[in-house]
Amino acid sequence: MTPLMSGTAHRLPFILDEVEVRRVERLSPSFVRVELGSPALADFGVDGPLWDQRIKLVFPGSSGRLPSFAGADESWYATWLDIPAEERGHMRTYTVRDVVGTGTDTRLVVDLVLHLVDGASGPGSRWAATARPGDRLVMIAPRRGEAFGGIEFVPGGAQRLLLVGDETAVPAVSAILEQLPAGARGTAFLEVPETGDVLDLDAPVGVEVVWLPRDDAPLGERLHAAVVTHLGAPAERPEVAADEIDPNLWETPTYSSSGEEVAESPSAHGDLYAWIAGESGVVTGLRRHLVRGLGIDRRQVAFMGYWRHGVAMRS
Ligand SMILES: Cc1cc2nc3c(=O)[nH]c(=O)nc-3n(C[C@H](O)[C@H](O)[C@H](O)COP(=O)(O)OP(=O)(O)OC[C@H]3O[C@@H](n4cnc5c(N)ncnc54)[C@H](O)[C@@H]3O)c2cc1C
Repeated sequence: MTPLMSGTAHRLPFILDEVEVRRVERLSPSFVRVELGSPALADFGVDGPLWDQRIKLVFPGSSGRLPSFAGADESWYATWLDIPAEERGHMRTYTVRDVVGTGTDTRLVVDLVLHLVDGASGPGSRWAATARPGDRLVMIAPRRGEAFGGIEFVPGGAQRLLLVGDETAVPAVSAILEQLPAGARGTAFLEVPETGDVLDLDAPVGVEVVWLPRDDAPLGERLHAAVVTHLGAPAERPEVAADEIDPNLWETPTYSSSGEEVAESPSAHGDLYAWIAGESGVVTGLRRHLVRGLGIDRRQVAFMGYWRHGVAMRS
């Protein structure tokens, strides 16, 4: 283990600690579920529903070791980035799919996607492919009673929900669906690599869940067509040039990665709240259709690039 920081123990306003794999389940060809436990998770929690709560995981680097965050203080991130890459490991973003157990036996359930098309590319995907009980990671997660952020699902008073995602957003959409009130209405579109990746989900009766196995179709093609048809627009997919795609696309009612103003405008689909996450190019195409094409108010939509084809996520 590589010591990251020295000094007296310091209580950060979030959990930053090693967790151990307690259980591994291969849910389908592309999904691996792990339960991650640590006594430190006794303090895990947020104020209200978890919805699409994100967390960070640090996977071991090429040395095979994890950095130690013991005694970390507010400078933990800059200090961590200064460690040589092979010892630092790789930080990636995931979703809390569920929480099981209580107290010091609290475990966070995380569903990781295996990138089967590109081979087991990426440290997160590679780790998931061979994960075993007893393996260790570092987790950064909310501490009960402290502000953490990382929940983007904010439907307000919307009467109708549109949830859209590819396989990386299936854990978030599944968690959101399970937490919705019984009377919620809307549709969820989920594109997954293949038919075997269609999972059993709990959703309110008024929310239709449409699975779209990709099979041999290009990434996002079925998802785009299904969503725009659902909204009553022609399904033709707009051309999005590679240099127009922001790999860190994040456009929500409260934050814009492009710096765009959230303008007040009369809106089509005024009763709708849309939550859209997945590959940045696919999400950019949908954004163009919904905001520019259909005039849906940006305050009613969260568009989130969860990954970018051909680009490793920045730590
Ligand atoms: C808020 C948020 C929540 C997320 N929740 C989850 C989650 O619960 N489960 C989950 O699996 N992912 C989730 N993701 C996506 C995940 O962070 C990325 O897929 C990340 O790139 C995985 O890291 P990696 O080390 O496997 O690959 P990287 O090192 O980042 O990338 C290596 C290569 O793999 C490619 N790649 C990355 N993701 C995929 C993919 N899904 N399919 C095919 N190729 C891919 C990249 O384009 C690149 O070429 C989430 C992302 C965000 C922002």
